[in-house]
Amino acid sequence: MDALELENVSKIYDTPGGPLAALEGVSLRVGLGETVALVGPSGCGKSTLLRLVADLDAPTAGAVRVLGGPPAAARARRAYGIAFQAPTLFPWLTAAQNVALPLELAGRPAAERERRAGELLRLVGLAGFEAAYPRQLSGGMQQRVALARALALDPPLLLLDEPFAALDELTREQLQADLPAALAGVGRPISVVLVTHSLSEAVFLADRVVVFSPRPGRITRQVTVGLPRPRGPELRDDPRMHALVAEVRRALAGAAAAA
Ligand code: ADP
Repeated sequence: MDALELENVSKIYDTPGGPLAALEGVSLRVGLGETVALVGPSGCGKSTLLRLVADLDAPTAGAVRVLGGPPAAARARRAYGIAFQAPTLFPWLTAAQNVALPLELAGRPAAERERRAGELLRLVGLAGFEAAYPRQLSGGMQQRVALARALALDPPLLLLDEPFAALDELTREQLQADLPAALAGVGRPISVVLVTHSLSEAVFLADRVVVFSPRPGRITRQVTVGLPRPRGPELRDDPRMHALVAEVRRALAGAAAAA
């Protein structure tokens, strides 16, 4: 079973200006425990793809399977966690309460919620900040809380839509470095689908980078990132990393020129 399977998926939106094709004939597999980055020009349908996987929208044609079943089933059993560019924390809840919210909605007992929230905050490097409110935390720390919340129910699948885009470069690199360790700390393989505009982020984090054409988004290229893990900061100056980023950049430019 794959974490994710898209077969010839198309999505056409009805808009006041007429039909708008966002995705066209997209076929993609993401294995269990695999991290896949989606890159492509703005508007090529990357967020749309995540919405289809998350069962927040339905494809116009083709099939989407999440963990072997329909997206609605995965959503109903809370099989995925999701985090966006903005951390969307509740300002009146503490960091621990924000992280514990999915557990509360799932009806877990208070003692378990508190224990798990503490564990998750430690995992994302925020031990000691359990009682802090979002306004007392930096943007990077808020995004860490949002990641911890996305992991609260131990989902086998994590959907990340530009999760670090609003952060300064150094904070962003720190979070990129910490994410795989936090995922490893969960204790079982997690599949990740990451939408990003940063090519170096895509290569640094992913096992595979999927390149989309301009809208309507089609997959034009998949670049396998064979770099060993764990990946540390030294990798940023590694020629292999630079070569992969250049390969993805060429694939993007080729797709844009062909469109
Ligand atoms: P990306 O994430 O790659 O920037 P999106 O998936 O957000 O792209 O959008 C793809 C295209 O679909 C864009 O042209 C966008 O304007 C359009 N679109 C996205 N959501 C809707 C919607 N709910 N209704 C109509 N058009 C939409």
